[in-house]
Amino acid sequence: MEEIKLTELERELIIKRREAEQRRQEIDSLFSFYDTPEDEGCSFANGEWNVQRSKEFYNKFLDTLIEALNKYETWIKEGTGYSDGFTRENILGGSLVGRFLSDGNSPLYKWWALQAQICPKCYIEWGQMYYKLRCNHTYKEK
Ligand SMILES: [Zn+2]
Repeated sequence: MEEIKLTELERELIIKRREAEQRRQEIDSLFSFYDTPEDEGCSFANGEWNVQRSKEFYNKFLDTLIEALNKYETWIKEGTGYSDGFTRENILGGSLVGRFLSDGNSPLYKWWALQAQICPKCYIEWGQMYYKLRCNHTYKEK
């Protein structure tokens, strides 16, 4: 078998890629309690049905997001002005946190976007933030 010689840059890129993948897996495992709604086609994404979550679930989701932000994305504190720390209130949709996670290509962005689909008043999870922003607090069975 022919030996493949890698440059120093190629070696570094492979190591960085492995580290990024490991980080993504660690972040995803923090949210292992999240059961992804099974959407045949795109009826969930189109707002035809939703998922009723509990207050405890919602708070656990936000606390896990804060835990992950503190562990993996501390650099965001400076840019957002949240040097005192992340809270359940200052990480929600409309904050700079999502923008920074997106611009930083963070694997945490996926989870941040999911919290933005859960209504903070009735804890219904929608298939898109669009429906959450127009939530009429009515559970729609699948
Ligand atoms: Zn609601």
